Amino acid sequence: MIPYGRQSLSEQDKNEVLRVLNSAFLTQGPKVPEFESEISNLCAVKHALAVNSATSALHIACLALGLKQCGRLWTTPNSFLASANCGLYCGATIDFVDIDPLTYNMSLEHLRSRLIQASKDGALPDILVVVHFAGQSCDMKAIDALRKEFGFKVIEDASHALGGSYQGELIGSCRYSDIGVFSFHPVKMITTGEGGVLVTNDDELAQKANLFRSHGMTRDAAFLTDTSNDGPWYYEQIDLGYNYRMTDIQAALGVSQLGRLDDFVERRRELVNRYNQLLAALPIYLPYVIPDSNPSWHLYVVRLPIDRFERKKIFLHMREKGIGVNVHYIPIHTQPYYQKLGFKWGDFPNSESYYEEALTLPLYFDMIEEEQDEVIVVLKEALEL
Ligand SMILES: *Cc1c(COP(=O)(O)O)cnc(C)c1O
Repeated sequence: MIPYGRQSLSEQDKNEVLRVLNSAFLTQGPKVPEFESEISNLCAVKHALAVNSATSALHIACLALGLKQCGRLWTTPNSFLASANCGLYCGATIDFVDIDPLTYNMSLEHLRSRLIQASKDGALPDILVVVHFAGQSCDMKAIDALRKEFGFKVIEDASHALGGSYQGELIGSCRYSDIGVFSFHPVKMITTGEGGVLVTNDDELAQKANLFRSHGMTRDAAFLTDTSNDGPWYYEQIDLGYNYRMTDIQAALGVSQLGRLDDFVERRRELVNRYNQLLAALPIYLPYVIPDSNPSWHLYVVRLPIDRFERKKIFLHMREKGIGVNVHYIPIHTQPYYQKLGFKWGDFPNSESYYEEALTLPLYFDMIEEEQDEVIVVLKEALEL
């Protein structure tokens, strides 16, 4: 089976993990801070906090931004569940903004008109979670302008986008957002097994997120309520936090993988260019890239026009022939859990019609050209071309 995505582990990656296993610290040792400082250097951002998943990073991002029971979080339907669930964890109300039919990212026109309406209704969002789908940045400059006009906070769910750039700058600088989040799940750009990171330039947000990451406890004298404390062992719980810490085992893998990021991104770009050339003549839609963006290409998604092709038939044919195609994403608002909250099919038509036509083709660092050729042969066969 040619999978849709797969990690690439070198001997050095494995050796770095072994070194931690043979050391004194499996967690809360030196590797996590090392990984964090490499991420913050790479992204040119002030703070990086490694956690056990991007989902956890999204959760503590919402908490740090003060999202509460009566709060509102907006995101895109075309994402993984976690982009919306993070708001539900805080008891907030979720709403969605439909996608742009070209980029499959959140539509700026829809966002603007929804904000104007929400402003009249006194129901503006507290937080907007934008998702850089497939590793292509949203138009962050335009989103920043709306952030300033309407006064909401912005989280970039950059789970797909480590190594991608926007206006010539690597995604993760938080130039136009409050917080950014990356995922290190094995199908993502680099992996730590499970893992994620939160990035921000805001000292106070970083300090809050750091508390939420580890039980809400601190030893920092600046935050202690009892300054006449008992001794050097003293700590206080000053908020309700979680155990969302990353282990040193994971961080060691992360540091080693990060050293390979340039190669990972370059190879993905080569393979995407090759797909684009070899599929150009087919009557299907290929990924569209906005001028300001140089995507990292977590995913390669094609659209099969519904008036001409039956996606399910093509999907099954390709799976049967050993090609691990996939579909990203079932619109979040159509999930049974979200339907119980009042959403229904028909609410976000662009996301739904995109979903009905989308097919993710295999793309990963170790993919060889023969494998890619096979994907293309089987796709053409399935399309009966
Ligand atoms: C993978 C992913 C997540 C969740 O990442 P985990 O590290 O698995 O928690 C969140 N958002 C998006 C867009 C993702 O692709």
